[in-house]
Amino acid sequence: MIETDYEVLVIGAGVAGICQIKKLQENGIKSLVLEAGGGLGGTWYNNRYPGCRFDSESYTYGYAFSRDLLDSWHWKELFSPQPENLKYLNFVADKFDLHKHIRLNAAVEAMCWNEAQRQWSVTLASGEVLTSQFVITCTGALGVPTLPSYPGMDDFEGPSFHSYNWPHTPLDLAGKRVGVIGTGASGIQIIADIADEVGALTVFQRRPNWSVPLNNREISEAEMADIRRRYDAIFATCAKSNGGFDHLPDRRGYETVSVAERRALWDSLYDAPGFALLLANFPETFLDARANRDLSDYVAERIRARVHDPDVADRLIPKDHGFGMRRMPMETGYFEAYNRDNVELVSLLETPIERVTPTGVETSAANYDFDVLVYATGFDVMTGAFDKIDIKGVDGDRLKDKWIGSPTTYLGIMVHRFPNMLMVAGPQSVSGSTNYPRAIEVSVDWVTGLLTHARATGVSRIEAQSAAETEWTKEVIEMQENMPFSKVKSWFTGYNSNIHARDAAPRYVAYWGGAPRYTKILNKVSSEGFADIQMD
Ligand code: NAP
Repeated sequence: MIETDYEVLVIGAGVAGICQIKKLQENGIKSLVLEAGGGLGGTWYNNRYPGCRFDSESYTYGYAFSRDLLDSWHWKELFSPQPENLKYLNFVADKFDLHKHIRLNAAVEAMCWNEAQRQWSVTLASGEVLTSQFVITCTGALGVPTLPSYPGMDDFEGPSFHSYNWPHTPLDLAGKRVGVIGTGASGIQIIADIADEVGALTVFQRRPNWSVPLNNREISEAEMADIRRRYDAIFATCAKSNGGFDHLPDRRGYETVSVAERRALWDSLYDAPGFALLLANFPETFLDARANRDLSDYVAERIRARVHDPDVADRLIPKDHGFGMRRMPMETGYFEAYNRDNVELVSLLETPIERVTPTGVETSAANYDFDVLVYATGFDVMTGAFDKIDIKGVDGDRLKDKWIGSPTTYLGIMVHRFPNMLMVAGPQSVSGSTNYPRAIEVSVDWVTGLLTHARATGVSRIEAQSAAETEWTKEVIEMQENMPFSKVKSWFTGYNSNIHARDAAPRYVAYWGGAPRYTKILNKVSSEGFADIQMD
């Protein structure tokens, strides 16, 4: 019997890590979560920007593993805001007495596999080293922010920060001149939320994104009681939906319905909550180029109807990709913000930023002075959190080197030559492409099942076989290449213009085969005794 400090160390106390530690404790596995931040909650602990909220229906985002938990939490809004989400995750940790299994301010800097001992040595930023038989990474998809590299960024004299690093202490924006760079999901939430509070807001937009109304509203006690009664049906729908949402496509057939009927459906979906227009639509509007053009024209028309200045409206309408071909931000009053006198849109496609100055931003056409500058410029998605840790597997192989072009994994959960390391919501899993918690619970159950199987059969070393990893990565590539957005540059296809090497070619960071297919594959692997995993 090998002596280790822990049977399992979990890295990260976000949505995945909290769920994982609950299951490990339930199974009597000696385990601890190491969390870099000063509180649990991951993305909901870190993202404190104004307007930050779910764009999954709240009641599909909560954990499904406990009926008691489902019955005891009241989601107050259809799309719950960040403070409430953080409260929920702490409520879960309180309810299941998980805090004592989570160490905060414990950033992992390195992980080294010791073959002789069959254990991982995990080094913290403090220098402390812990040993564990297994490590489960729950490091999240979007936790490593990336910044542009404009000259002069350090010289700006006022507060400037990435949206992910919005100060935790209150920042009074009343009457201030604020610049926001970036119009992805974070930028769009911030812009809409602060437009009526700030003195002047300048939005620096590079490529516009399609965005449609979130249609948020409160959830009454009576509606919540009804949701509680329907939870089983709601989660069953999520399990059937490719994206893990409470929306199923309209399968009447795009060509079989009249233009007026399509229009009626789109009008109702535009006013429906969440991703309805994307997910409850005719599948052809996503898969077929002509249908996608029709829908894009419809959404463009809706934008034009909401933005008073036709030139501004035109700049806000994407021209380089169709509706739904990048991760769609959802908005609340975003387009109306541009009708305000204190809001200006600057297109970086027309006048790029040349430098940041001590007092603001200089584009090729003008100087803008700001009190506060916000970079809502995205993340080193899926693999960024792994690259931050020096992970060395068999013979000192570095994971960072193995993944240099694009990651390779087995089921998005294991990596050949990195034994006893398991990933929840890792690259090439379905988590990156779906309603996150729905996929996480499936992965956590599978990983926990694998560990209990290893335990029960006296196995101390598990490693994905090389051929199985090659097969899975091939499937991941095929699924992405089949997607209509495979040639569109966005984080879906692994691009990031702020990381030089990631602006050159697509990367395969998420599984696009859909949640039902992914779950089926996982179930098949476990029911067949994990044949592609070498166990000894
Ligand atoms: P993002 O979608 O990657 O958007 C980054 C934005 O910054 C884009 O508009 C991008 O322009 C711009 N940008 C990047 N580098 C730039 C540069 N050097 N100069 C000028 N502009 C630059 O990032 P995000 O908005 O933080 O969202 C990331 C993901 O987080 C979302 O897709 C979503 O999955 C998640 N998220 C979820 C929620 C939610 O669920 N409610 C909210 C926020 C975020 P280009 O398009 O031209 O590159």
